[in-house]
Amino acid sequence: MQAGAQTDVDVVVIGAGFGGLTMLYRLREAGFSMQGVEAGDGVGGTWFWNRYPGARVDVQSVEYSLSISREVQDEWTWTELMAPQEELERYVNFVADRLDLRRHIKFETRVTAMTWDEASATWLVQTDKGDAWRCRFVVTAVGCLSAPIEPAIEGLHSFKGETLYTNRFPKGGYDFSGKRVGLVGTGSSGVQATPVIARQARHLTVFQRSAAYTMPAGNRPWAPGEFEALRENYDEIRAVQFASPLGAARFGAVAVGELMRTVPPNILETPMEERLARLDRDGWLAATPFAWADVTVDIEANHAARELYAELIRRQVNDPETAAALVPHYPMGCKRPIIDIGYFETFNRDNVTLVDLRKGAITRVTPEGIETEQGAFPLDVIVYATGFDAMTGALNRIDIRGQNGALMRDAWIAEGPRSYLGLMVAGFPNLFTITGPGSPSVLTNMISSIEQHSSWIVQCLGHLRTQGLKTIEAEPDAQEDWVTHVASLAQGGVRVHESCTSWYLGANVPGKVRVYMPYAGGLNVYRDRCDEIASAGYAGFALA
Ligand code: NAP
Repeated sequence: MQAGAQTDVDVVVIGAGFGGLTMLYRLREAGFSMQGVEAGDGVGGTWFWNRYPGARVDVQSVEYSLSISREVQDEWTWTELMAPQEELERYVNFVADRLDLRRHIKFETRVTAMTWDEASATWLVQTDKGDAWRCRFVVTAVGCLSAPIEPAIEGLHSFKGETLYTNRFPKGGYDFSGKRVGLVGTGSSGVQATPVIARQARHLTVFQRSAAYTMPAGNRPWAPGEFEALRENYDEIRAVQFASPLGAARFGAVAVGELMRTVPPNILETPMEERLARLDRDGWLAATPFAWADVTVDIEANHAARELYAELIRRQVNDPETAAALVPHYPMGCKRPIIDIGYFETFNRDNVTLVDLRKGAITRVTPEGIETEQGAFPLDVIVYATGFDAMTGALNRIDIRGQNGALMRDAWIAEGPRSYLGLMVAGFPNLFTITGPGSPSVLTNMISSIEQHSSWIVQCLGHLRTQGLKTIEAEPDAQEDWVTHVASLAQGGVRVHESCTSWYLGANVPGKVRVYMPYAGGLNVYRDRCDEIASAGYAGFALA
């Protein structure tokens, strides 16, 4: 493909993570021509960029894996319950090679603009390398957590040591041996990285603004023959997985699918001795929203569950002041739960210090290290695990111009994302968003959601082809109803409580409009709704 050349393909697919690869495969199987575009120099998306030490998936690998190809499923061997980043990157490369997908992708190329042309009913997709593809459809598979945010800390770039970001970590890793390391951020990435860095570094200082709700992953290698037995059983595993609201029967080592089928007691109606007895019996699980029915809907119940969580931390962490600092101040269940390997124990090490930024914030980064209101910390390396402009960031960074030249981000920045089913946006015909805002996406096993979306999209394109239709577009009324429905599902609970500062709400990005972005009704319910809509001749969509 020559820079600047205009090439007609049926579909341009943006992104070569699991979403993009799945889409490319399904499009090719269905006989569409396509062009993939990927900013990185390899496949993998999340698992390409987030190469930080300790990175690991929180869903069991037999479920966090593709079911689209029997060969891929049968030929790949997982080595442990939840794969680490390196294994997932190897797997996604295996998928790309086994399904021969690499030849469809232009790497090291970022889509910068896409413009809808009403007269020809085509999109013009342009990149930072000067490519311009004219196509009938665009599918974005840009990821929900792929637009890094740089923390707004004065002097960030003045540091004369090494500055690293978990979400752009160097390929091949980084040797922290003998170094004084500062880690900023204690979300999933920071929590996973902490124990691994602590084992290597001379000293690790963890700068914590918000404490984390995290529990032990329960990861382990397979027992002899265990994986082979599971592999024999993939059909059953997939059936259970896809019937679950989370698109996974398990979160970490916990059988959440089963738990969600039972109604647990209310914590506020349970005497304290009984709560503590459950803590002794069930461990961390007793301090999660899975254990108590009222925790996600009643803030008092939430505080009671947090007390149990604090008790568990006190049992793990020797220094009482550090243990107290590790207790979150926001509601349990408002942010994505985290699973870890040895997080709290790490704070018992002599070479680890926790700096609770609630007692004095970071004031600036200097050439020597980090200064806070509590004092200065000289460092050799700073690792930022400070998160993403989630769900909308990657799309808003592209100039997407739909009907009448309207720029998609103008509306999304002003009002929050608006879409029908999280799949299409009114005013932007023939543009599909895999795991877009308004779909279950980040509340589920992402691979299950990716498979469901890509399947729906390719069936939709097949329908248009057989009917001789050129365009499909979300109707504004259907979109408004959907946006209202998505908001209603989160209403009243801790997810939207004023004290919740999750990235689901955009609350981690200064100035971002506060809207609960994912669909919280469960992937199983959502899939049925999408299928019903398709069966009803794509109700709520205008086809022409
Ligand atoms: P994150 O959850 O947004 O955490 C970012 C952390 O950085 C928070 O503790 C935040 O504090 C802190 N922070 C941000 N700006 C700061 C500043 N200026 N000064 C001090 N602290 C600052 O990001 P993440 O850890 O990368 O995780 C994002 C999501 O990716 C996860 O929720 C999860 O969905 C996914 N993920 C999954 C896995 C897994 O499945 N195993 C692993 C990693 C990531 P505040 O909370 O106070 O803003």
